[in-house]
Amino acid sequence: MFSYRHAFHAGNHADVLKHMTLVATLKHLMHKEPGLTLIDTHAGAGLYRLDGDYSETGAEAQYGIFKLLTALENHTAIPEALQDYLDVMAHFNPNGKAKIYPGSPFIIQHLMRHAARDRLKLFEMHPTDAKTLASNVAQLDAGRAIMIAREDGFESLKKLLPPPPSATGSRRAMVLMDPSYEIKSDYGKVTSTIQDCLKRFATGTYVVWYPIIARVEAHDLPKRLKTLANQAQKSWLHATLSIGRHADGTTAGLAASGMVVINPPFSLKDKLREAIDVVGPVLARGTGHSFSLEHS
Ligand code: SAM
Repeated sequence: MFSYRHAFHAGNHADVLKHMTLVATLKHLMHKEPGLTLIDTHAGAGLYRLDGDYSETGAEAQYGIFKLLTALENHTAIPEALQDYLDVMAHFNPNGKAKIYPGSPFIIQHLMRHAARDRLKLFEMHPTDAKTLASNVAQLDAGRAIMIAREDGFESLKKLLPPPPSATGSRRAMVLMDPSYEIKSDYGKVTSTIQDCLKRFATGTYVVWYPIIARVEAHDLPKRLKTLANQAQKSWLHATLSIGRHADGTTAGLAASGMVVINPPFSLKDKLREAIDVVGPVLARGTGHSFSLEHS
């Protein structure tokens, strides 16, 4: 357990899909005034060096954010959701060169609103990443707006739902669930936790990442999540991105992943479709590349 370190994978194609979906979801939720409770159950270290040892070892950003940035250099018509994601990247790299990759805690923190009293709750279990996350967040001087705990994100989520009412009395929450799936039981925990969340707080927006790999649990996960949403009479969106194989037929790491969003903002399907229509072909590496978007 805990052999997974996100630094090896930061900025890869899965991060691009995940973080573009996250940014588009948050941008929409933040159109409405009342404050939000934002929960990141598997937070990681928060910030990653793209020129550091870890990312060099994996070099996965070459098939993700670096490839995207290079391809879009002279692209004029960039869809809104993609531009919003690139703007977040640019915020963390003000000198133009992509050296830092912001993980989900920093993406959320960058977009959350002080005036609306949005609150961010972060959970990370890995001893080293939890420490790095805490010291990265400490630099922000965020006070009570951000809470970090070295606790099990699946379990801790339960005590946070339903979220407290905002100043206007409405309860609003977005949960990002992004486990490493290094242990098989993560798949079952995602489904049982989402089932529990829908009972505790049926109107929350739940954003789940999963790997597309040859494993029955991974194959079943999106189906199970869609069934749970349908049973609760809630809407869902499902997006996938596969970059395909190298020319020699190998994949060298993860080739595909997906996102399931329960109670997606109504604008997400159109915005994400436009963005994936550009990102999919740009990140395609070889045979087997594909992208899809479906919704209820
Ligand atoms: N969400 C991050 C992002 O987008 O930047 C990446 C998270 S990474 C895929 C998954 C993280 O979950 C790892 O850092 C791992 O140590 C952590 N983790 C594993 N099991 C956990 C658990 N039960 N509760 C909280 N964190 C856990």
